[in-house]
Amino acid sequence: MKAEMLKIDQRTTRAMNRRLILNLLRREGSLSRVEIAEITGLSRATVTFVVNDLIAENYLVEGETVRGAGGRRPIPLAINYAGHLAIGIKMNVGSLECILTDLSTEAISTVTVNFLDPSPESVLDAAETAIRHLMTAAPTDAGAVTGIGFSMPGTIDVENGICIKSHRFFWDNVPFADMLYKRVQVPVWMEDDTIAFALAHHLFGLGRQYNTFGALAIGVGIGCAAVSNGVVLRGGHGQAGKLGHTMHKLNGALCECGRKGCLQAYYAEPVIVERWRTEKGLGPQHDRFSMRDAALQGEPLAKAILREAGENIGIHLAAFVDIVDPEVIVVGGEAVCFGDLLFGPMREALDVYCYSRPPAILPDERDNFWSSGAAALATQRLFNFEKGPGSQQGDSSIA
Ligand SMILES: [Zn+2]
Repeated sequence: MKAEMLKIDQRTTRAMNRRLILNLLRREGSLSRVEIAEITGLSRATVTFVVNDLIAENYLVEGETVRGAGGRRPIPLAINYAGHLAIGIKMNVGSLECILTDLSTEAISTVTVNFLDPSPESVLDAAETAIRHLMTAAPTDAGAVTGIGFSMPGTIDVENGICIKSHRFFWDNVPFADMLYKRVQVPVWMEDDTIAFALAHHLFGLGRQYNTFGALAIGVGIGCAAVSNGVVLRGGHGQAGKLGHTMHKLNGALCECGRKGCLQAYYAEPVIVERWRTEKGLGPQHDRFSMRDAALQGEPLAKAILREAGENIGIHLAAFVDIVDPEVIVVGGEAVCFGDLLFGPMREALDVYCYSRPPAILPDERDNFWSSGAAALATQRLFNFEKGPGSQQGDSSIA
């Protein structure tokens, strides 16, 4: 019994040391063994032991030793982001947006696959097609795909890879991570799409330098996520940050969740564009970019709707800011294309409604923010010591 406990202890210590060193290198870029020992407080022998393991597994690479005037400098070490691959899948209405990335969620190849209906079986077929396609696009010298991240709007049981509820896709208790794993034999992690987006920014993006920050997504829905002291908050029921379902107007417009008056029933991206189209009598070919261009050219209606949306989202966001006290707020989602037409009024509302000085709003303007967020779920296993369905599917991660 004692020997068994000791074994578990050693395994945990080993995993924690690996996590410590990998996270340090993720933040700092490149450091020598001596510097790692100094910063972490680990002994040089421990650092050498852990680092040698990580190099053998292709997770770390050694840089060139430089011979300077003062003699030989220590060998720098860095994370070998190119040495392993991840796949991210974001579930949209009617299609899956999929991406093959290296470990830093840098895009290698992308594909969008449509599904006929949102039933789990149809979505599984589409996901399998996308995964097989992306695997053929992998560079020959890159390592294997270490994991697949699947993100969708909803309440997700992250531990077990189950979608407890998604109003948009009519899913109830679907163990999708396990279903997809059985098809492709690669560990699958699932997460709410806004949380996945926050996680990607926490690990490699605009939130990397901050201990506490907020992520706001304005797309088909509106969602918020908080990273507090380095940890993503999911809440007691996986429902933290559902800002889009905050009550905006009692008995107001019908929301996809079945309630009347939720914030996103007024100001989600498709809703504001549709309102502009309807009031202008325009057809469906006029999309968010047409609306943005019209507003930029000074069209009063487009400008007024965007101002109203920015202000009202800002008012609800102010409560989030006062509770979480984030250093910055990263914003993603399709509505990012509206830029300061939306963010200007949002900042003004935060100025008025926040108790403390409001945080800076940092828009993420990449094309692949959703699917890269999903890919980050797979690489998160490297840096975190969290359990997931993947842990029962063979220990291909190093946590
Ligand atoms: Zn709602």
